[in-house]
Amino acid sequence: MKSKDENKNNYDPDWKPKNAGSEFAIKIVKGVEPNMNKGQNKITSLNNKTINLETSDFVKGVLNNDRTILARTITLIESNSKKHNEKAQEVLKELLPKTGNSIRVGITGVPGAGKSTLIETLGLYLLEQGHKVAVLTIDPSSSVTKGSILGDKTRMEKLSREKNCFIRPSPSGGTLGGVARKSRETMLVCEAAGYDVILIETVGVGQSEITVRSMVDFFLLVMIAGAGDELQGIKKGVIELADALLINKADGDNETKANIAKADYSNALHYLMRATEGWETRAHTCSALTGVGIPEIWNVIIKFISLTKKSSFFDKRRKDQSLHWVFGMVEDKLLSNFYNSPDVQKNINEIKNKILNSEILPTTAADMLLNIYDDLKENK
Ligand code: GDP
Repeated sequence: MKSKDENKNNYDPDWKPKNAGSEFAIKIVKGVEPNMNKGQNKITSLNNKTINLETSDFVKGVLNNDRTILARTITLIESNSKKHNEKAQEVLKELLPKTGNSIRVGITGVPGAGKSTLIETLGLYLLEQGHKVAVLTIDPSSSVTKGSILGDKTRMEKLSREKNCFIRPSPSGGTLGGVARKSRETMLVCEAAGYDVILIETVGVGQSEITVRSMVDFFLLVMIAGAGDELQGIKKGVIELADALLINKADGDNETKANIAKADYSNALHYLMRATEGWETRAHTCSALTGVGIPEIWNVIIKFISLTKKSSFFDKRRKDQSLHWVFGMVEDKLLSNFYNSPDVQKNINEIKNKILNSEILPTTAADMLLNIYDDLKENK
């Protein structure tokens, strides 16, 4: 039995048919404001002490690579509360001059290709070379279903114990655009904390590769040989985003197959568009399990960075990415203002019904909605 209070938080959707009886079981459950006391999720783990830290405390903590403060700054960024976000923006503004000094690498591939094993092996190798490594993930599945493809297993166990490595799983909730904005800001905070290699992992199952491509200098596509379908369901478009294809699991009985796949992909690459001006995308092999081929792929990345810096494409891409980021934020804000405006909300269902009943043309409907929104602004 539900308590009275619980029932108050449930209500019928406005599209419930008028003649529907008790068989109509759908109820809308009211959302709750982030609660600072219940301690149920990441946002609420920001206790009053944290929110009361001065901006300068956050900035100092991040610059000193105080991992607790670093993690809390990221929690501020990821919070959906306006108050936290304002503070996060103040902190970011201070940190911005200290950002940008890292190699940003995106890593994608279908689940099971070996991305997390690769990141563990590559990450440990980079630490040995004296780098400081931050690993971020962008997992769109966690936004949609609150479940996650990338985070549901124990991953990168050895790497996560290293003091010069910082691993942060994907923020959850919101649109892919929102998740990406938060991850981008997290990347900047990690750079300010002194991490000079940022590895951003995503899953090769949709739009997220394009998002990650728009945040990184080098984009690596991890693949496996002999998975049946020649392109493993990875679309040509994704291959065209990549600066290198890495055929993983080139060990044991699989080594020959991996070499054949490398030759096949090398041929195919001749017919595809290049991701980066002046750089030829090639196929390579490695074994994330044994470490064979890992230093070689890092050398490819280093060569790429030095070449694109010389040709100034590196700078051009970063500048383009900044513009993309800014306009992405503008678009996100405009969209949310539009859909959250009370007059649009009041009229949208009626207009939707009119379109569905062929009473008005879609173009008229769009004009009507935009006019409602414009009037609203003018009357402000
Ligand atoms: P992800 O889903 O892309 O992150 O893939 P995982 O890193 O979780 O790897 C999936 C499976 O492949 C695991 O069982 C790994 O142990 C295995 N695996 C990953 N890399 C290699 C490799 O280089 N060689 C072999 N033989 N297995 C590997």
